[in-house]
Order: sequence, then C-alpha cells, then structure tokens
Amino acid sequence: MSPEFPIYDLELAIGIDRSTFDLGIDELDALPVGVITLDRRGNVLRYNRTEAEYARRSTDSTLGKNFFTDIAPCARVQDFQGRFEAFAAVNDDGYERFDFTFPFRWGHRAVEILFCRRRDVESIDIIVTTQHRPILEVDIDAPKAIARKREREPRTVRLMRHDAIWHDDLISGQTVWSRECYDLVELDPGATPPMGGLRAFADPSVAAELDVLVQAAIDARVTYGFEHRIVTAKGKERYAQVSASITYDSAGRAISIVGRAGDVTDRCAEETELWDRANFDRLTGLANRICFENSVENALNDTHNIGRTFGIVFIDLDRFKTINDTFGHVAGDQVLTVVSRRLEASTRPEDLVARLSGDEFVILIAGFDNEGIVDSICGRIIANLAEPIVIDGRVFEITASLGVALYPRHGVTVDELLHAADSAMYESKASSTVSVVRFNEDLQYERHERATLEHELHRALAGGALELYYQPIVSSGTHVIASAEALIRWNHPTRGIVPPVDFISIAEGNGDILTIGAWVIASACARVRASIDAGSPARSVAVNVSLVQFRSPTFVAIVRSAILQANIPPEFLTLELTESVASGNFYETMRTLAELKTLGIKLAIDDFGTGYSSLAYLKHFPIDIIKLDRAFVAEILTDPIDHAIAETVVALANKLHLEVVAEGIETIDQARCMEAIGCHKLQGFLFSKPISEREFFGAFAVAGS
Ligand code: C2E
Ligand code: MG
Ligand code: MG
Repeated sequence: MSPEFPIYDLELAIGIDRSTFDLGIDELDALPVGVITLDRRGNVLRYNRTEAEYARRSTDSTLGKNFFTDIAPCARVQDFQGRFEAFAAVNDDGYERFDFTFPFRWGHRAVEILFCRRRDVESIDIIVTTQHRPILEVDIDAPKAIARKREREPRTVRLMRHDAIWHDDLISGQTVWSRECYDLVELDPGATPPMGGLRAFADPSVAAELDVLVQAAIDARVTYGFEHRIVTAKGKERYAQVSASITYDSAGRAISIVGRAGDVTDRCAEETELWDRANFDRLTGLANRICFENSVENALNDTHNIGRTFGIVFIDLDRFKTINDTFGHVAGDQVLTVVSRRLEASTRPEDLVARLSGDEFVILIAGFDNEGIVDSICGRIIANLAEPIVIDGRVFEITASLGVALYPRHGVTVDELLHAADSAMYESKASSTVSVVRFNEDLQYERHERATLEHELHRALAGGALELYYQPIVSSGTHVIASAEALIRWNHPTRGIVPPVDFISIAEGNGDILTIGAWVIASACARVRASIDAGSPARSVAVNVSLVQFRSPTFVAIVRSAILQANIPPEFLTLELTESVASGNFYETMRTLAELKTLGIKLAIDDFGTGYSSLAYLKHFPIDIIKLDRAFVAEILTDPIDHAIAETVVALANKLHLEVVAEGIETIDQARCMEAIGCHKLQGFLFSKPISEREFFGAFAVAGS
C-alpha cells in the first residue's frame, strides 16, 4: 500500500522559524502539510486545503465547529484533546511535537502532530503530516493488521552496544552488519547481507512504502525511522523498529547510511492484542459493534460518499437458538464461525462484516454508485448460507433474515441507519416468503407508529387504561358456560379499543409485558374471587401468557402470589401457553411447567396445531387442556384434512386424558361437527364475543372495576 500523501519533513515544510504561522489562508492552502487552527476551546478558525484533502472533508464543513466534539469524534480523540488542552493551558510560545494515530475512513492512520501557539492571537495551530510514518492501515482486507503507535525517533541515531547495526556504503555498494542484525532477521552469519538494512526482509505489503520513505528522507536530508513487520530468513514474523542517518558529501550526494534496528515484536503483539480486543469479536474474528459503528461513522464523514450511497445489511439467523439449545453452545459457536466466513465470502474486500451479538451480524457495503451491488451481495449471502453446514457429521441448515438500509435515504446517522436496517430485518423475519427486505417509507411509518404506541402504552400501564374482556367457554352439548378466557384490551384515548395483536408484541419487545402480564394474572384471580363470592357459574378463568413472561425468572412467583393474594382455589386459574414454549431449553421449560403444576393451576396449550410443537411434547409436558386453533375449526366442514387432524388430536388428547377446547366456533354446524369429533368444550362468536367484565359478570363485577 503506497501512501496517498507525499511525505514531507515538518521543519522543511514550515520552518522552525514560526513566522510561517502568520501566513494568510492562501499561503496556508499551498503548504504541503495539514494545518488546523483552533481557538483554545477547540473551535476551528482555519482549516487548510491539505488538511481537508487529508481528512476528506470540505473546509466549509469544519469552520466554526468544535474539532473535538464535531469533527473528530472517535475513541482516541480524548487523548488528543487532553494533550491539546494541556498545551493550551501553558502561556509560552513553545511548540509540542508528537505522534498520533487517528481513525480515518475505514482505517487508522499514523500521523505526526505539531502544536504551535500563534503569537498574535489566542489560538493554536495544529500541523499534521505523515512524515516518517509508514502507514500500516487497519483495512478491511487485513482486519488484524494494526495501526501502530510509534515512539518519537531521535533526530540523530545513537548507536548502542546491543543494537542491530548496519552500514551501507552507497558509493562502493558494500554493506556491513553487526551480529545482532543477523540474529534479528535470523540470517546465517556466513551469508552476505543485503544493502538497505532490513528492507529485504520487510513484509511485502509495506516494502514499497518503505522505499518511498527512505528516498524522501534522503531528499529532505533528514534521518528516518519507522516500525514495520519483517519476515525473517527462517520465515518468522517479527516487528522491527528501525532508524537510520545518512551522510552526504560536500556535493550533497548521499554517500552512506548507518542504520539501527531493534526487535519490538513483544510490544507490537501486545498492542495488536489490545487493539483486537477492543475492535474484534473473539469467537469469529469479525469486527465488533464498536469497530462497525466507527466504520459507519467514518463512511458518513467521508466526503467521497457525497452524491454516492452506501448500505447496511442487518442479518439475523433464523431459529439459531434452537441449534444452541439442542446441540449445545460448542456446536452453536462452530456454526457462527462458519456463517462468519460465508458472510465474508459473500462481500467485496472493501465491505466490512461485523458481529453485533449472538446470531446478529451487520455488513457495511462500502460506497457505490449502483444499488444493484446491494442486491447481488444479499443474493450471495442467501445462497452461501443455504449450503448445509456440516460439523462433526451433523448437518445444519441455516436460513437468515436480511434487512437493508441505504445512506442517505433511510438515515443519516449511525443509529438511524442501524435502526432502519434492523426494522427491515424484522419485517423480513415476520414474512415467511421474503428473506431480504429493504427499508422503505412504510416501514418508516410503521416504526414511527410503533414508537408512538410504545410510548403511549407505557403511560396506559400506569394510567389504568388496560382492561380485561372475557369470552365464555362452554361445555359441548349443553352449551352452558364452563369458564371464561380473559382477553386484554387497551382503551386508547383517540384510537378507541386497541386489540392485543397491536400492542402485545411491542410490550414483549420492551419488557412491559412483564408488568402487563402480572397485572392480567392478578386481575383474573381477583375476578375468580369475586365470582366465587357471588356464586357465579363461570368461576374458572383462563389467562394468556406470553413466552417472554413464561421465561422470566419471577414468573412462577408472580402466579403464586396472585393466587395467594386473591385466596382462590388454584385449579380455578388456567394459564394458556402457546406451542412456542417448546422452542426453548427443554429442561428449563419442564422445570417451570412442573413448578406451575405444583401450584395446582391448570395449563393449556393455546392455538394448538399452528406452531412448531410436536405431539411428542404433549407426552412430556404436564398439560391439562389443548385449545385447537381456530384455523382448523374454520375449515372443518370443507377441508377433509383439517377434519382428520382435528379428529386425531381429539383422539390423542382423550388417550392422554387431556381436555380439548375448540376455538373460534362461529356457526352451529361447526359446533355440531366439533362435538361429533368429541371436543369437550367450545369457544367462539357463536356463543359470545369477548365482552367487558361488567357485561360478562354483570352484577358480580369486581368491586372497583
Ligand atoms: P387467543 O388466546 O387465541 O384468543 C382468542 C382470540 O380469538 C381472541 O382475539 C378472540 O377475540 C378471538 N376469537 C374468539 N372467538 C372467535 C371466533 O369465533 N371467530 C374469530 N374470528 N375470532 C374469535 P383477541 O382478543 O384479539 O386476542 C388475540 C390474541 O392476543 C389472543 O389469542 C392471545 O394470544 C393474545 N392475548 C389476549 N390477551 C392477552 C393477554 O392478556 N396477555 C397475552 N400475553 N396475550 C394476550
Ligand atoms: Mg388464548
Ligand atoms: Mg387461541
């Protein structure tokens, strides 16, 4: 990688005589080094053209802004700001020079910084140059490469006894090496050493750059120094810190070079390790969230992206939890690693693949002019993931849901873009046919709606706007009310009655479902108490339980306390769970179910037949009731297969001594048919829609409701 910027010597470029700082902006623009003038609070007063090109910004976009908060916000800027403030606090006209690594675009660049106090005004010039700084960029191709922090090299080379030293005679072409030099590169002491010191052993990726640096140093008549990776004669990888000084004859010709090198592998390894830990995911070696967000931030700041677009793809593996739960975390980790490699293989070198958490990945699709590139990358991802993954003889079939957001159409900040891609991903997850969804305005609207509802729901919770409706469940044949199912409603000030489908998933998403669920259980138990006290026939009440609730560690305790509080016989409470409980860890699910059964309550599987459960679970789970989903009932008279399934479920339930409730009975023919099959109980609009508590229980309403 050759430097994009010519290398200059600071002193030569600006002169140690600081009168140069009184230059006007035109002269400043002509300087080959970046100059930023800040007031003492860090606000930008001047920003020269070189710096603008350097940082790929426009001068206009920086003037008047705060350098630390608005222009260079990155993790490292605090160090930089600290140095600046310390420098600004002193009142002399000195200057301070140091090396620094700044994140730029998709990588980090080592630069040399010079702070200079301007004599006339209360401001400080920051001079930025790449002089002496080989660029070992962290780039997408080599995420493990590290941007190195170098210590300042002395201007003259001091020779130490144990240093590796070489001497190149540029006139005779002869070179002499000290023994330590041979040792450093593991060269056979009998061999003739090459000219150019360690150049012959430099990692090929930096070799060309080193040549430029050396030539620049010769031209500028300065010493040079840098750190770079070498590969020894025996193939070992090391890091060497190198510095050298050049001697010239009276005609100004370079005649010899004396160089010194030290082994800094340990320090570099440590730095690499630190860098990696901060920026990469340990398991997969992919970039982590921090690294990803920085990269998107850089892409946003990159003026090269003006008029262009870049994209973010959010990827969530489908049902990955099942793999973890069924085959263990070791297998899960292996699958994630394979998936990571496949995602990398689906992208271009300039794109960045990162793992956000668990089975969530994101890809930054670097700046492009043609959006077709996004579709083709997504297509490749889906195709590559579709190949079965074989681990220890086991075959894993992976599918994923992808959501795409494009800059600037779907967002102009890191957060907005990630959010947009995330909601598009959710949309794709919810769809059974589409696996890639591009964020669109409808989604934007939905997201807004959802956010509004979420906010309002939170208030409704505190404000008592939630209410339980009840729907009777009747006995087959007699159609006498046997029990009731509690169904939640939200009395919205402007929308009217909001049904649960519109808000339960929101509440599940933000955890409000725990509060709502606890309230539902407590209210239902209070209802049972009131019915008993009033001698009502419908004493038993069923409540719906969300999976999020069921999995919460306090769930059993909440149910227990509701029963105790209302002082009701526990068998008057039924919890309706969906088949999704079976998707979790089998043993944990079993334990929770067993604890609930120990309380003496009844358990029902709701919407039976629509989900993922197998009949085998019925054998293991301590279930009392199956609620046959409405979908079967709807087609029972017309679809012989649905009829057969319903019949089989009832037969099986009878064998297992389970009660079957048919949901969604709307016609008398459906009721008769379900009764003929042998369903024990019936529920549906034929008998009654869900109605308010007051309507349902009439005179027996709970006090205060
Ligand atoms: P679910 O538990 O299966 O409840 C039955 C749903 O079917 C109810 O919708 C009910 O109004 C509707 N229904 C009953 N009979 C008929 C019929 O004959 N025809 C038709 N077309 N529909 C009928 P609702 O009240 O909108 O509830 C929808 C779902 O929301 C419930 O399905 C349940 O899963 C969930 N839900 C309701 N209340 C709560 C709650 O308090 N907590 C939780 N976590 N979920 C709840
Ligand atoms: Mg239900
Ligand atoms: Mg149901």
